[in-house]
Formats: sequence, structure tokens, C-alpha cells
Amino acid sequence: MDPYIGWFYRRRAESVIEALKKNRMNGTFLAQAGEAASAVMAMIPEGASVAMGGSVTMAETGVVEALRQGHREGKLKLIDRYEPGLAPEQVMERLRQGLIAEVIVSGINAITEQGELVFVDATCNRVAPILFGPTKVILVAGCNKIVPNLAFAQERIRHFVAPTNAKRIGRKTPCAETGQCADCASPERICNATVVIHKQARAERLHVLLVGADLGY
Ligand code: SF4
Repeated sequence: MDPYIGWFYRRRAESVIEALKKNRMNGTFLAQAGEAASAVMAMIPEGASVAMGGSVTMAETGVVEALRQGHREGKLKLIDRYEPGLAPEQVMERLRQGLIAEVIVSGINAITEQGELVFVDATCNRVAPILFGPTKVILVAGCNKIVPNLAFAQERIRHFVAPTNAKRIGRKTPCAETGQCADCASPERICNATVVIHKQARAERLHVLLVGADLGY
């Protein structure tokens, strides 16, 4: 990481963490992506059931593999929707189980400087347990996700997050062809819901790990 970009990300993260506190949420800055997996594992109670939201950041930082390793070692019970060989109905069953997991670990699509968290979802299996169900929410995001306000967040989602993710997972949408949003009505539309978390009712429930790196989409 360029030292000046590293400095910039740290300063922005410190400011966002203060804003999160005012919104009854918690934040921690991690200077290196390699710190994320152990930070996530340290926050999961022994034996807890854990759901994970689809997230490139979690794969890039080794969080997914750490959760799988924790499951193999009996430290937690991972509800792994990506386990190879699952039939579609088994995947759906695991997504439903995720709604009542004790912990959800996921990424974020944008974070505003006012400490608001913004997510886009196609089927809402990711945003639903982040909003309600699990008693602990752990979110991992690179500082590249920080934006000035909700308008910038929406811009980021429609003009970058959705097209890149649609292309990544092979959706047949206009943006996956042209790279530009056409506000489509496709059945494969990837941005069916945009969710903003402004504040939390229970201050201990949600924790954001902000990494001083460019991660995910
Ligand atoms: S509305 Fe359609 S075209 Fe626009 S970003 Fe979403 S999926 Fe892509």
C-alpha cells in the first residue's frame, strides 16, 4: 500500500468509526487485509452458528477460509451456502437457516462518512439477516467503500457495484454487457433492493472492520 494512501485511509476510517459510534454501531480499523480473518474469528463466540453473506472482500481477506477452518475444528458451526455439490433446494435451506444464525459475517457495498451502511441485494438473503435475526453482525470492508454521503453510495452501487458483480456471477443483465446501468426489468436483475442501515437499536450488535486497503467491488 502506498504510504500516503494508507495514511488517507486511516484518517477516513477514524472519522467513520466516530460516526458509527454516534449511530450505535462499532468500528475497528485494520491496517492490513491480512488482519481481517483473525479479527473476525476473535469476535465469534465458541460454538456459535455462523452465516455468511456473499462477499468478494471476505474471500480476498481469507475470512471465508478461516470460517471453514473454524467449522472443521469444531470452533463454530458454519452454514456454508457455497459448499460444493449442494442442490438448489439445499442452498435455499441454508439461506433460510442463515436467518436464525447467531452470527452473520458479510461485506458492505458502501459506507457513508456519516456512518451509514449501504447494501444492494438481488434475493435479499444477505441483507435480511444483517437487519434482523443474528444477535451479532460482523461486517468487513475496505476503505475504498467509504463515500461522502447516500447519494454517492447510490451512484457507486448503480454504476460500479452492480455491473461488476453482475458480470462476475454471469447475470444476463444490460449492465453485464455494456458496463452501464439501464434500470432494467430483467428477471436476473442484481439490484432488487437497496438497504440503508442508519442506526442500530442495540449498540453491541453490529461491528464493522474497516481495512486500509482496496477490497471487493
Ligand atoms: S438495474 Fe439492471 S442494468 Fe442497472 S445495475 Fe441493476 S442489474 Fe444492472
